[in-house]
Amino acid sequence: MAVTKSEAARAGEFTRGQMLIDGAWTAGAGKGEINVESPGNRSIIGSIPRGGAEDVDQAVKAATRAFAEWSRVIPRERGRMLQKIADVIETRVEELARIIAEETGNALRTQARPEAKATADIMRYFGGLASELKGETIPLGEHVLSYTRREPIGVVGAIIPWNAPVLLATLKIAPALCAGNTLVLKAAEDAPLGVLWLAKICHEFLPKGVLNVITGLGEEAGAALSAHPGIRKLSFTGSTEVGKLIMRAASDRIVPVSLELGGKSPSIVYPDANEDWVVDGIIAAMRFTRQSQSCTAGSRLFLHADIFDSFLEALAEKTAKLKIGDPLDEANDVGAIINEKQFTKVCRYVDEGMKQPGAKLHFGGLPPKSGPLSKGYFALPTVFANAANDWRLAREEIFGPVLVAIRWTDEAEAIRMANDSHYGLAAYVWTKDIGRALRAAHSIEAGWVQVNQGLGQTPGHSYGGIKQSGIGREFSLEGMLDSFTHRKNVTVNIAC
Ligand code: ADP
Repeated sequence: MAVTKSEAARAGEFTRGQMLIDGAWTAGAGKGEINVESPGNRSIIGSIPRGGAEDVDQAVKAATRAFAEWSRVIPRERGRMLQKIADVIETRVEELARIIAEETGNALRTQARPEAKATADIMRYFGGLASELKGETIPLGEHVLSYTRREPIGVVGAIIPWNAPVLLATLKIAPALCAGNTLVLKAAEDAPLGVLWLAKICHEFLPKGVLNVITGLGEEAGAALSAHPGIRKLSFTGSTEVGKLIMRAASDRIVPVSLELGGKSPSIVYPDANEDWVVDGIIAAMRFTRQSQSCTAGSRLFLHADIFDSFLEALAEKTAKLKIGDPLDEANDVGAIINEKQFTKVCRYVDEGMKQPGAKLHFGGLPPKSGPLSKGYFALPTVFANAANDWRLAREEIFGPVLVAIRWTDEAEAIRMANDSHYGLAAYVWTKDIGRALRAAHSIEAGWVQVNQGLGQTPGHSYGGIKQSGIGREFSLEGMLDSFTHRKNVTVNIAC
């Protein structure tokens, strides 16, 4: 099919001013609209309703009505619907990829297209798990039958961010629905169009009210959703700051929560790993090609003192080859930062690094104020050498392409510094000595440690954080069972 640059604009048109509530596209209670801006050129490419408490209430009521039937659909049937949705996404990957690139600023070739493909994979994976919603029998003796059932929780309230919007929406929709729950999903105000596109496909296959998608601001629609008494489970992906608000709202009603929050992930490079493929791995782990707007970005680089300078030289050389620019141009590796607020925040951190006593700006720096890159929110991959683990730049999640390189000599000290963070999401260890790698992997406080690679998540892998990086796991069967079902025990006296 012919796809043009205006894909996101067209996606914006079909859903212009509309969200999905109770199987119908609606403008909601009419609190106005929010414009969606393309970060690559700052043009307005669509608009969405500014949903509020009334819309949330309608959506939760619709999901509550739909739950009675949906929870009783044979799981295999629910799975089949998800598989059909996956089939359609697969045939329209290119269209989706362009919407994602246009609204998020993520480069089409390196990020948006892989996200569109992964979206279909995740939908298919969970669709195939429907028959795995198994319970157990408990051996209490010949006169007793005691068994557990995995039952859906009810109406799930899910809130997602903008950095991988359609993939993250699917990570809520697919497992929640497969397990028999119904869902009210709040899309991020900065990247709602791909999610609405996905909702449109889901809507063709799902009974009304099973999936409801609300658009709007966090403090309005998001807060109303997290506080709604009809919500039986909250699943949130976003900042640690907002995660705490969600948990607070949940605590009022003892609602279970899953939180996938921020990170400040360490990458530890041992002296035997001063090689080209490790440099490539560090670039991948730092997620430079998605402007490092990733919770798993390996943004603290612990380099052994023996290789510190030569490794950074090689890193500067390779990073300089990354092409930054128009996210829709296949030639570009790196796109734009999501919005002005985030762009300004990233620039402030770079500025702070440049003024930090003892810091050395190894490459990158503040973005150009003129020329093609000044037309969008383009930040430069930046590395500060000679960093200390207690700098603000090394402690706070920047969510932008700013890497700090910290020197180490003693393994125990490197691990102590790696763990000296309130986050605990991902970590990366680079050495050919497998004993050393596994010792480090077991000592690092993180939900996910990769050795000698810096890849993204794949379906089947239980992904999530510890400490202030979150609670619960996603991407896997266990994640679905733990997050979207509860166990009920039934015990029967069969002697009578
Ligand atoms: P990010 O920094 O990635 O934008 P946020 O945590 O601010 O992360 O936003 C993630 C999601 O949480 C978005 O959909 C946003 O609208 C929503 N959100 C923001 N503030 C609140 C809030 N007070 N209550 C509920 N949801 C919120």
